[in-house]
Amino acid sequence: MPAPGLSIARLDPPAALAHLGSGVDGLLPAEAARRLAEFGPNRVAAAPRRPLALTLLQEFTNFFALILWLAAGLAFFAAYADAAAGMAELGTAIVGVIVVNGAFSFWQAYRAERALAALSRLLPQRVGVRRGGAVEEIDAAALVPGDLVLLAEGDRVPADCRVVEGWGVRANLATLTGESRPRARAADAEAGGDDPLAAHNLLLAGTLVVAGECSAVVYATGMRTEFGRVAHLTQTAGETESPLQKEIRRVSRLVAALALGLGVVFFFVGQAIGLPFWANFMFAIGIIVANVPEGLLPTVTLSLALATQRMAKRNALVRHLPAVETLGSATVILTDKTGTLTQNRMQVRELFLGGRHHLAAERWPPPGDIRLRAVAGLCHSLKFVDGQPSGDPMEVALWQFAGALPEFGERVGEIAFDAERKRMSVLTREADGRRHLWCKGAPETVLPCCATWLDGHASRPLDAAAQALFRRAQEDLADRGLRVLALAWAPLAGDGEAMEEGLELCGLIGLEDPPRPDVHAAVTRCHEAGVRVIMITGDHPRTALALGREVGIVRAAAPAVISGGQLREMGPAALQLALDAPQVLFARVSAEQKMRVVEALQAKGEIVAVTGDGVNDAPALKTADIGIAMGLAGTDVAREAADIVLLDDHFATIVNAIEEGRAVFDNLRKFLTYILTSNIPEIVPYLAFVLFRIPLPLTVIQILAVDLGTDMLPALALGAEPPGRDVMRRPPRPRGERLLSWPLLARAYGFLGPLEALAAMAAFFFVLGASGWNWGEMPAADDPHYLQATTACLMAIVLAQVANVFACRHPLLPAWRLPFAGNRLLLAGVAVELALLLALVYTPWGNRLFGTAPLAAEAWLFALPFAALLFVLEEARKAWCRRGA
Ligand code: ATP
Repeated sequence: MPAPGLSIARLDPPAALAHLGSGVDGLLPAEAARRLAEFGPNRVAAAPRRPLALTLLQEFTNFFALILWLAAGLAFFAAYADAAAGMAELGTAIVGVIVVNGAFSFWQAYRAERALAALSRLLPQRVGVRRGGAVEEIDAAALVPGDLVLLAEGDRVPADCRVVEGWGVRANLATLTGESRPRARAADAEAGGDDPLAAHNLLLAGTLVVAGECSAVVYATGMRTEFGRVAHLTQTAGETESPLQKEIRRVSRLVAALALGLGVVFFFVGQAIGLPFWANFMFAIGIIVANVPEGLLPTVTLSLALATQRMAKRNALVRHLPAVETLGSATVILTDKTGTLTQNRMQVRELFLGGRHHLAAERWPPPGDIRLRAVAGLCHSLKFVDGQPSGDPMEVALWQFAGALPEFGERVGEIAFDAERKRMSVLTREADGRRHLWCKGAPETVLPCCATWLDGHASRPLDAAAQALFRRAQEDLADRGLRVLALAWAPLAGDGEAMEEGLELCGLIGLEDPPRPDVHAAVTRCHEAGVRVIMITGDHPRTALALGREVGIVRAAAPAVISGGQLREMGPAALQLALDAPQVLFARVSAEQKMRVVEALQAKGEIVAVTGDGVNDAPALKTADIGIAMGLAGTDVAREAADIVLLDDHFATIVNAIEEGRAVFDNLRKFLTYILTSNIPEIVPYLAFVLFRIPLPLTVIQILAVDLGTDMLPALALGAEPPGRDVMRRPPRPRGERLLSWPLLARAYGFLGPLEALAAMAAFFFVLGASGWNWGEMPAADDPHYLQATTACLMAIVLAQVANVFACRHPLLPAWRLPFAGNRLLLAGVAVELALLLALVYTPWGNRLFGTAPLAAEAWLFALPFAALLFVLEEARKAWCRRGA
């Protein structure tokens, strides 16, 4: 069966419209509503993602889980070989751990994915349609066959359409064909062929309009589009691994290898000193299980997901989870000017007309003003909805400035703006056939097209002196931060091709675009946080410099200002060297050159966040470590290339997002410090047992109770900490810095861990000694005093961990300076931790399962000061480090 598009491709535009029961005015709203009910919303049902069962299975087969399975398998094998050793319980406990951990990880990942999907729904695609003769903007999901859509550069094609009228349209079909070279699209009828992808008058859903403008009639929506048919193929493309994911993988392997290694070493040591084989075997397994940081993976997901949600509240939508953390390590922000640093609320301030400066608001306009206004009012590509202009705010400002104009005939053509030419022209024809060309753009590109200039009512040649006059005026306006446009016009002779040459220069217009109010503060925060801010704009160097100074990006007396022209002359090495200057600013730069700057910065080892909104920005957004697209002004193309979308287009939002990203890394470190600490008091009892021949102070099942019971929630809560006040007061972390660093290991294993071990051993001997035990005696495994002593050891560890979780909230700042309100999960976690401990010590099932026995009050009173000691000593260490810093 031929694709539905092919028959329509062979019709001419009026016939194509008629074929779909539509016309040049589009569908009537009532008919559109009827069709929507009949054909359903224009949505491609999400391809069945990886089945949930498979994702669940994956949680049980990751690296940690495999080690735990191995341990459980060995325990069951041991139980089979020697039924008396209590190995079956151990095996069951480990399987329980795997199940709880896997289920929890799965739940976290599932919730994070759902949250991400919900966030992406906040960005519905809007599309302009003509219905009943009026243009309106609707949600792309409401499109129906027969709708007349208006598409322009940067739009994602919302449904399969047939071009009815088009100017310079080029489409990128990469989503369907994988080929990124844009293809021209036009309105005339297709002769033959049977491939809708090749039909030159069809625009298929999911592809991108990268140039031009057109109106097109929709002939297929939702699952009936070509994209809908292949959706299940394209949606399953895998994502690449981010630096954080790589780091997590590295840490997991390292820690798992450590756990296995320790297990094996302890096993051989035990054998060497003649411990019974099965008891020894059980220990080795216990050591392995104790050292595997089970909660790590769900904590990573939780941390990222929470940061993502907080970022969404601060107007930054994250498209890929790990991008959050990458943003936290950014060292340079390469930012646009218009709309990001400025409000994009333009207003015409000044004119340079007849060789003199004038205020735009002057009551008695100078001669020549009407011509200037005519260019301002006619030369634009605005759309009008109910008589109100919509489009580029600069053009709206110019149109408003123009006010009521005499009749200049109808608009018959346009030479579109592109960032390379930096100018645009509009062609009009009056009733008597006279045609005019109206041109506006950057003075550098408009002046060379002009032969004369308008001086009052007279036309004078634009000789070198006049050019110098205009150039000086431009610089003067630009120095005051105004964006300067040159406006020109010319009557066209005959019917020939419209050319932008021999024009008459009407004058210059200076537009004001004030900076956003909190940009200055955000720039200051970046400086404090060691993040470089580099402005890269299409505007004039002087305008850029004036704004740069106003918002605090430029503070040096003579910053390096590199223009697009200079950039073209520079080789990659020269560009890299130029970036060494302490303050750099790029002006009159095209989007393609932006990409070169990104690459040069990356070559210098920087982690680059870059903003962009246009079609041409997509490559730079993709190349940068973090691409940031504008949600308001940005095109669909830019948004699709980006990792993060700013809902408010605001520079300060980027800085907030960096703060959240940094917090993620910090939180993972807090988590690791906390859980690694308790490994030491779990290993030391065993070492003491082996080396000093004392009764075993802590059993394997009790180790599991700490690691997988009491420690879990507080550890997870550390992953949910909001950013600390100091995260933006220190430089970005160095590129090669590891998650599991030496200072972290030293703090956990060398300081906090030994303190906890001391508490554990002291509590054990305190209770055992009180029962009349003497050195060298080996009580029976079910001796009630011995059971109480091991319980005291366990209790001391948990109490110390309670103190530790507060100490771990910051590696340097005192715990009392951190607000509790930001992390309620932490208090809940500690409450659950203590409740579990009480259940372990005082309930019959707790006693039975974990080999514990109820403790007397003295044991608690003995252990508490050790927890307090850990806290005090850790705070003393922090204070000492703060003084040294
Ligand atoms: P930024 O890159 O920070 O957003 P920008 O908006 O000035 O700055 P471009 O959009 O590349 O960057 O514009 C470059 C120049 O082209 C502008 O400085 C202006 O002189 C000219 N220009 C921009 N828009 C138009 C337009 N619609 N018509 C004519 N000239 C334009």
